[in-house]
Amino acid sequence: MTAPGIVPQGESGSAELSALRAQFPIIAGHPELAYLDSAATAQKPQAVLDAVQAYLTTTNANAGRGTYTWANRTTALVEETRDRVKGFLGDPDPAESAVHFTSGTTEGLRAVARDWLPRLLADGDEIVVPVADHQANISPWLEARQQLSGQGVRVRVLPMPYQQASGDYDHTALASLAGPHTRFVAVTHVHHVYGGNMNIHRIREAVGPDAVICLDAAQSVGHLPVSVAELDVDFVVFSGHKAMALPGSGALWARQARGPAFAPGGWPGTPNTVGIASLHAALDWLEAAGPDRIERWTVALAARLTDRLRHLDAYEILGCRTSVAAGSPVQQRQGIVTFRHRDIDSGDLGFILFSHGFMVRSDGHCQGGAGEKADSVRVSLHVYNSMEEIDRLLSVLATLG
Ligand code: PLP
Repeated sequence: MTAPGIVPQGESGSAELSALRAQFPIIAGHPELAYLDSAATAQKPQAVLDAVQAYLTTTNANAGRGTYTWANRTTALVEETRDRVKGFLGDPDPAESAVHFTSGTTEGLRAVARDWLPRLLADGDEIVVPVADHQANISPWLEARQQLSGQGVRVRVLPMPYQQASGDYDHTALASLAGPHTRFVAVTHVHHVYGGNMNIHRIREAVGPDAVICLDAAQSVGHLPVSVAELDVDFVVFSGHKAMALPGSGALWARQARGPAFAPGGWPGTPNTVGIASLHAALDWLEAAGPDRIERWTVALAARLTDRLRHLDAYEILGCRTSVAAGSPVQQRQGIVTFRHRDIDSGDLGFILFSHGFMVRSDGHCQGGAGEKADSVRVSLHVYNSMEEIDRLLSVLATLG
């Protein structure tokens, strides 16, 4: 594997950043463009592309189905990647936990809802659903409730309370909402619109020691340290493609300590072996780069954008209007900043920004029905972005004010 360069600590245009950007062929090949849409999908380092090529040119076979060398190597790769996921998540008890490969967060959350949740719940139980989070973390739980209701099992949905001004969960309101029948809580680690780290410790405090917590880590794995030794959650679900692996890969980690053991339902079919190979390489790359250093850099980029943008009157920042300042109600803004222009439609703003070389996301961001009612522009950052890109973006935004 190519060793990642040192993650820059704040110097714009530093040699370290150039070396790091050079590891991403699509970034290095397009210096005139700024990719600011990593929450949608992350770009891939050469090490991941090499691992995919190496797998397909030396090993490609099906997993768990043959006795010859390539098949055995593929089976071993799948098992090693399971261990890799556990290691990457700092699993303190890997002998007890399980990793199931999925096509991404959507499929992972759906697997928990479809294959496991109905086995946990009984008539009269309650589940907490984060109604202003990504739709992928809302629909599966409502569908599970519907399915149970068809079997005569009535489950109450408690909509997760939010603090409107910060986009964070309202932990105090959650604590008074949750009771002894609250068995399951779906939460998100980093909000895909508001960018806040949702402070999972406070969720555990609010719901007590017995409730199962399922963490949508789509926007945190690969961006900051995610340690299941520290977070008292039962499931962690993430997408490979947002963590620098190929689309169609992802993982669901299950602690197997509260409620029944997770087991995927139905016949599994052929796993996405190329995706799994890419996930292994991506987690290696991210670990060598250091999730803590990636977090420091992307938080610094987002802080610069937030703290300057809020002084431009034409813009409204969604969620917390400050970055990481002391007293901020969100634990920490990560590398996601979403905003609207007072007069320019968000779709038009996206086109204008692209005419200046900036690739951003502009629409409703698949947010659930209790979220924002109007579209917005989202800038989402990764380790390959530079301060210079942020400053150029701010200059263009200032001219539109
Ligand atoms: N959850 C969150 C917080 C997301 O941001 C996304 C995608 O943007 C998803 C879930 C769904 O991920 P995927 O489309 O990779 O399944």
